[in-house]
Amino acid sequence: MSLVPMKQILDEAMKGGYGVGAFNVNNMEQIQAIMEAARRTASPVIIQASRGALKYSNLIYLKHLMLAAVEENPDVPVAMHLDHGNGLEVIKQAIGLGFTSVMIDGSLMEDGKTPSAYEYNVDITKKVVDYAHRFGVTVEGELGTLGGIEDGVGSGQIHLTDPTQAAAFIKATGVDALAIAIGTSHGAYKFKAAPALAIHLVEDIHRRCPSIPLVMHGSSSVPRDLVDTINRYGGNMPNAMGVPMESIQAAIRKGVRKVNVDTDSRLAVTGAVRKVLVETPEKFDPRDYLKPAREAMMTVVEGKMKDFGQAGHAGDYKPLSLENMKKIYEH
Ligand SMILES: [Zn+2]
Repeated sequence: MSLVPMKQILDEAMKGGYGVGAFNVNNMEQIQAIMEAARRTASPVIIQASRGALKYSNLIYLKHLMLAAVEENPDVPVAMHLDHGNGLEVIKQAIGLGFTSVMIDGSLMEDGKTPSAYEYNVDITKKVVDYAHRFGVTVEGELGTLGGIEDGVGSGQIHLTDPTQAAAFIKATGVDALAIAIGTSHGAYKFKAAPALAIHLVEDIHRRCPSIPLVMHGSSSVPRDLVDTINRYGGNMPNAMGVPMESIQAAIRKGVRKVNVDTDSRLAVTGAVRKVLVETPEKFDPRDYLKPAREAMMTVVEGKMKDFGQAGHAGDYKPLSLENMKKIYEH
């Protein structure tokens, strides 16, 4: 079993100078798609569940699906990560379930919508760090806010991260990784025109805090071919647009180590399901469309693992347990 703290995966990515995709999951097919891609490319992997995913799948199911992924792939380091935790209660729940990493998004109030004050963010993040580190669990914080709304999370307003404040935040809270706002956005309709990301902020924050892996949320590329497939088979997604892969790779070169992807997986799954249902309307066995959906998502994830640079790195290091990590935090 190689269930590892996310800190190990990100610290190793830091040493190797590559990025690691964090892929959102809600069901068995999505988890299988990610693990198949990780196996094929020999990639360490972060599978993450949002509060919406835990609610959708009933958290016990999701926990066991994630653990099945770990058990089936002993050679792949896997981190189980909670995406956008909004308070200590859900953090405790995730750690109780066996998650090896949690995000506390204190950039928003507990409603997941209202931007918070800096002091609130420091206070809640520090509380989560103090709690999680006792279990060897990694903590990702967030400073600044993204555009867009996904799974009910987001204020819809963009506030880019201030590098001076980021350095102070990291020092005050002890977070292991920091999500920063550099102009990306949640969801499928991120931009009207190709975005110019504030890569200089990544560079500046990385220079001030070189040991802290930086995280990009809202980093789906919304590839034209995936959107076209959806639209060709009866979908209606005009003007969907994402973050070009070259911009993500530029951010990785400057210090981004975790890249969150959800929308592109959703697009791949939906396009594949639509295609089967439209082309073969006589079919009614869910496996007839869920299998192509799983394959389509696998192809997307496999491509990203290569593009982010994590491919080939699964065997680079000996997995650490939460118990090992606990001792590291104690020193
Ligand atoms: Zn996010």
